[in-house]
Amino acid sequence: MKPKIKVFTLGGTIAMVSDGSERGVSPKLKAESLINAVPGISDIADIDPVTFRQLPSPSISYHDIFDLLSEIYRSLDNGTNGIVITQGTDTLEETSFLLDRIYTGQAPIVTTGAMRNPTLPGADGPSNILHAVMVAASSEACGLGVLTVFNGDIHAARFVQKGHTQSPAAFTSSPIGPIGWVSESKVRIISNLNKRYIIDLNNKIQLPKVALLKVSMGDDGSLIDTVIDKGFDGLVIEGTGGGHLPAAMVEKITKAVAKIPVVLASRIGSGELLRETYMFPGSEIDLMDKGIINSGLMNGLQAKIILTLLLANGVNTNTIISEFNAWLE
Ligand code: ASP
Repeated sequence: MKPKIKVFTLGGTIAMVSDGSERGVSPKLKAESLINAVPGISDIADIDPVTFRQLPSPSISYHDIFDLLSEIYRSLDNGTNGIVITQGTDTLEETSFLLDRIYTGQAPIVTTGAMRNPTLPGADGPSNILHAVMVAASSEACGLGVLTVFNGDIHAARFVQKGHTQSPAAFTSSPIGPIGWVSESKVRIISNLNKRYIIDLNNKIQLPKVALLKVSMGDDGSLIDTVIDKGFDGLVIEGTGGGHLPAAMVEKITKAVAKIPVVLASRIGSGELLRETYMFPGSEIDLMDKGIINSGLMNGLQAKIILTLLLANGVNTNTIISEFNAWLE
């Protein structure tokens, strides 16, 4: 018996072509066309293709992903063994991370996409779909949550990042690298992942507004005032280095902390935030003393997703702090 794999397509470069009358490509291909372009796929699994959305990935919303998860649970209840999701690569790291935080099942969910659209020489969509189906059909991937398979590498969704604007090897994992790879007909997973951090979401309807700001040299923090004035419910700020702000921003950030939860991440996007090394105005010790929440290992995008989900659940700031700390335990 071949495993049953459901492939949900959401759009993205992997499904983008031009009808000749326009400049550039846009998502037009349906799930069946994506599957039909993959030689040998039916030898691996019984594929059930579903065109779920046809979007460029910057336009995928939290609610698209919540609806997708409901469909995934329905499919798994009806005997599907594994799930593949294809979408645009621009937000692949965010949708994969979000799904990985809220999915409670054991069956593999594998996300993938393409950097070269189907009209280009060396289009990478078909091989990425083939590898994703192999991983979704494998017993090795069970219980690991959401995985991203790209360019032959297998990444854990909790670490995966897009690291290049055009290369087919666009995805990396910080801090550990890929957890495995596909070799010929074999799926190799060589890293043990520790317990997956899951948020039991009780309010999917009323999502809070969380801002994400990146700090740069000469920043005076005016945008922090705008975040407060515009009624955001939370703020993630990507500081410099190990988690630092210019001294000129400290007063404004301190005022913001009195109103909404503020999480500090690093604009570097790799490595754990510092907690006990530097003491100067705007250093990580100074900012934590002022009530800023340390994002630990999470980059700004990841911290924004976690803060959004926690605020949707209506938890208080102390719980938010302990939840961020729990990520590393
Ligand atoms: N360049 C993107 C992609 O790789 C477009 C998108 O994210 O939809 O698919």
